Amino acid sequence: MPSVFIKTFGCQANKSDSERILGDYLARGYVETAKWREADEIVLNTCSVRQSAEDRVRGFLLNLSKYVTESGENKPKVILTGCMLHFKEKELKELLPEVDEILPLSEVGFNQKAIRKDKTSAWVPISTGCNSFCTYCIVPFSRGREKSRPMPEIINEVKKLAEEGYTTINLLGQNVNSYGLEKTGITLRKLYLNKDNFNAASIPVNSTQYEKPKDTPPFVILLREISKIKGIEKITFFTSNPWDFWDELIDEIANNPKIDRFIHLPVQSGSNRILKLMNRGYTREAYLTLIEKIKAKVPDVVFGTDIIVGFPGEADQDFQDTVDLVKKVGFKIAFVARYSPRPGTASYKLYSDDVPAKIKKERWEILDQIANKDNLDNRPLVP
Ligand code: SF4
Repeated sequence: MPSVFIKTFGCQANKSDSERILGDYLARGYVETAKWREADEIVLNTCSVRQSAEDRVRGFLLNLSKYVTESGENKPKVILTGCMLHFKEKELKELLPEVDEILPLSEVGFNQKAIRKDKTSAWVPISTGCNSFCTYCIVPFSRGREKSRPMPEIINEVKKLAEEGYTTINLLGQNVNSYGLEKTGITLRKLYLNKDNFNAASIPVNSTQYEKPKDTPPFVILLREISKIKGIEKITFFTSNPWDFWDELIDEIANNPKIDRFIHLPVQSGSNRILKLMNRGYTREAYLTLIEKIKAKVPDVVFGTDIIVGFPGEADQDFQDTVDLVKKVGFKIAFVARYSPRPGTASYKLYSDDVPAKIKKERWEILDQIANKDNLDNRPLVP
């Protein structure tokens, strides 16, 4: 039987995609191998979120390259997928000449059965792509526009998982709060920025992603339906963002004991000036008000967050505003990253990467110590 080795870089969305890519291979009669030297096909699921992530992909390919060259006619087929596909195919082939085939993310889809290693806790994608256009982020270009998976399909998958003995369901999307709204809601934030028409001056300080639906938001309905499924004991969701976190969602978390009390709510910066340059669409005041509102209704809630230090133009005062916000919220965990410009993003085109690497590192260390002080053994590695 032919064999496949899958190497996954990056976030949980990529790991979830790899579970379905493996499902597709097994359905076609392949076996999985843990050793790439034994594989007939090697799939690289790449990450492009930061320069360091791309460097890791290239580092892996350098190791692979020698082996591929030495293998002559018996060389494995190398297939590339994931967020590095935002490069054009020609650029990719120049960057990574060992690659034989490109697997577009749109072809990974939702429908292939996922092969999961964990037998009690399952990641279930509910949407893909993003319409938010944060200026530093490649996702709206690498994964495309936000697209929700039909609710009956998600419910069926969760029912099957419950029958197999899964008790925890982790719902996955770039922006789970707006699940199901891209067809009915009005996307407001993408009006300000798109790939070919950057205009920093037009970035608003405050904007939502979608208009609030008149009825119960579809994400709340999804949470209710999943919690009715026999055997499901715990539901988590990633990633919520500070926009579209409507009162109905807060009430549902408060009233539904199956929903986890950990909420990951990326803030990225505590400075209004930097949030505007990032096109995040909220102010620090709006973020803190949301946190207080959730704490008032869900007293046992704990928060996680993502923060970027060293974004273009980040002055000492901007950084201090972030430190102040982090202290006010008291996050359980913070994934702190140092800014690196990603080709293809708005910030790469609009702003100069003007915070020196030394300052980025210092700010990273300060914030990591403050935000993860109770958590230093578990904190994420230096990005
Ligand atoms: S919400 Fe912003 S940071 Fe998150 S995936 Fe979308 S564009 Fe990227």
